[in-house]
Amino acid sequence: MRKALLVIDMLNDFMDPAGALYCGDEARRIIPVVKALITRFVSENRPVIYLRDAHAEDDREFELFARHAVKDSWGSGIIPELQPTAETLVVDKARFSGFYGNRLAEILEAARTEEVWISGVCTSICVMDTAGDSRNRDYAVVIPVDAVADFDPQAHEMALKRMLRVYGAKLATARELLGGEEPPTPSSTKGYT
Ligand SMILES: [Zn+2]
Repeated sequence: MRKALLVIDMLNDFMDPAGALYCGDEARRIIPVVKALITRFVSENRPVIYLRDAHAEDDREFELFARHAVKDSWGSGIIPELQPTAETLVVDKARFSGFYGNRLAEILEAARTEEVWISGVCTSICVMDTAGDSRNRDYAVVIPVDAVADFDPQAHEMALKRMLRVYGAKLATARELLGGEEPPTPSSTKGYT
């Protein structure tokens, strides 16, 4: 199976306590897990693509959310713990789906991707919309449940459930996925089935 890893919005404005739309201390617990996923994918020579929110100063998304992740600002920067390297790609986006208005579709197609792993924030917004667009392009979707987070715990649970039920996403912890084990029932996927 040809896999690609997406790392969504692990940016200062979402992940730093001083950020404009900080997801909360709980969300920071995914950082080492996302890092482990990146390390594994890079070591296996698989595509790792950061999706970075990068808005124009007057972006109309700011009618919905407080001003955040303005292109080239500190807020739009990837957090220091997960700095991209020469082996990874960074693709800007300005909408919830990582496929909108950029080259992500072409990049995945060129790599002849079959399965998209999605990590980052927020589970119920950019992660879910990107999962939906991945499925719409016939990619299998994998969500490492401990590598995604949301400022709203209820929305997080709802989004996981919906990605499982509607997109047929595989949900398991990163450890289970990286170990190649099938997700056990009921522990980590408890509540999502
Ligand atoms: Zn945004």
